[in-house]
Amino acid sequence: MATYQHFIDGRFVDDRNERIEVFNPATGERIAEVPEASSATVGEAIAAARKAQPAWAALPAIERAGYVKAIAEKIRANVDTLAETISREQGKILDLARGEVLGMAGLMDYMAEWARRIEGEIIASDRKGESIFLHRVPIGVVAGILPWNFPFYLIGRKLAPALVAGNTIVIKPSEETPLNAFIFAELARQVGLPAGVFNLVSGRGRTTGVSLSGHPGIDLVSFTGSVPTGTAIMQAAAKNLTRVNLELGGKAPAIVLADADLDLAVRAITQSRINNTGQVCNCAERIFVERNVADAFTEKFVASMGKVRYGDPLAESGLDMGPLVNATQLDKVAGMVERARVDGARVALGGKVAERNRGHHYEPTVLTDCRPDMEIMRKEIFGPVAPIAVVDSAEEAVHHANDTEYGLTSSLYTRDLGKAMRVTRALQFGETYVNRENGEAYQGFHAGRKKSGIGGADGKHGFYEYMETQTVYIEHG
Ligand code: NAD
Repeated sequence: MATYQHFIDGRFVDDRNERIEVFNPATGERIAEVPEASSATVGEAIAAARKAQPAWAALPAIERAGYVKAIAEKIRANVDTLAETISREQGKILDLARGEVLGMAGLMDYMAEWARRIEGEIIASDRKGESIFLHRVPIGVVAGILPWNFPFYLIGRKLAPALVAGNTIVIKPSEETPLNAFIFAELARQVGLPAGVFNLVSGRGRTTGVSLSGHPGIDLVSFTGSVPTGTAIMQAAAKNLTRVNLELGGKAPAIVLADADLDLAVRAITQSRINNTGQVCNCAERIFVERNVADAFTEKFVASMGKVRYGDPLAESGLDMGPLVNATQLDKVAGMVERARVDGARVALGGKVAERNRGHHYEPTVLTDCRPDMEIMRKEIFGPVAPIAVVDSAEEAVHHANDTEYGLTSSLYTRDLGKAMRVTRALQFGETYVNRENGEAYQGFHAGRKKSGIGGADGKHGFYEYMETQTVYIEHG
């Protein structure tokens, strides 16, 4: 079904530039070769988006939303192909890949509802015979630059609000996981989306990504990825004063207080830590547990992580997690665990590259005796590794939780409503989950504080990130 070509101005095109190899992380096998867009090709995609934007913005929003919903329908009809593709190129277990696909279709439907909710304002003027209107207008042409960890979901998270709001878009998927995006392009073509409204350019960050984020024809760069890349993108965008929306990394603390339901905390934190093999921006990356329950929690948690089944998602059934996305990520995780061990952490479970002869698999790992100043407690791991530190009070937990450059997500486990209110207000994170696993709703606002981002996604506030406000003064005597 998929054509591995850029999708520009309603057509698949081959610019005969360099090719990029795509691998299956579970086996190490090469599975495809995709094109890399030159800066000229990026320019063509932006020109097509710019040409299409006025007519697209002139359609009633409900018609624009109709296309978005039609694509969502196509996505649901192709869920198996999409899930298998995501699993093959990224390493997700099939259940999670299906969830990503269906969740993305649901998000497209949710964003389509905003077509009937776009509101302006009429404001009383100080002058006689004058009316002041605040109109919401689209921003123009959006560049969506995506990471590999939820490659398909992120297409919808950027495209749906952008298109419903009246913008056109150029998407660049991650070079690690581009295959699902080509299928998306084919589905967009099948529903007859007007040419130029959605364009896809495939390529690496340092080439295609740089051309896109630094191009004067882009009005908003909507980026999800790491902090260093977010910084580079903001610098590239600054020379044109292009707006940026940045969803960056995290180091989510999970705080387990002495009065917590420990079984619930264990279940939720295990799930959060192994979700997508630990490669999720908002999943629990460091655990602070109150001393009175530290031993009981750790014992249950090690038992729970010890039951996690991992392997090749397309060859084995009943798995809880797949491999890490590539060899670089595997080396990074292994190196961080090794340095934590040297720095005094105790390996209570796992702690090794899995003994398999293929793929990038790492054992589910629990580290105890961690100190808040250790690298493993401060830097994003992005792997199935759970470091635990013991604290003496909720206040101490909050202090360490906030002592970070990140501010995306945090979670708290307690049965005390008063403590829950006090602690959540004190946590400096865009999102806090109480007594549940991390994972955001369509109608929330997924936004990082500090270095975790600028702006946010989802819900009303996420939708309006794709619109600007225009003030019109009418003198009518
Ligand atoms: P990454 O920053 O390496 O790459 C992301 C994208 O940016 C890719 O498409 C890449 O090609 C492109 N890119 C790289 N350098 C570029 C440059 N100089 N100019 C323009 N584009 C460039 O991130 P990744 O490794 O793909 O994803 C993992 C990171 O994403 C983690 O840090 C994770 O926490 C973060 N993330 C955040 C959220 C969120 O919602 N906050 C969601 C998912 C992932």
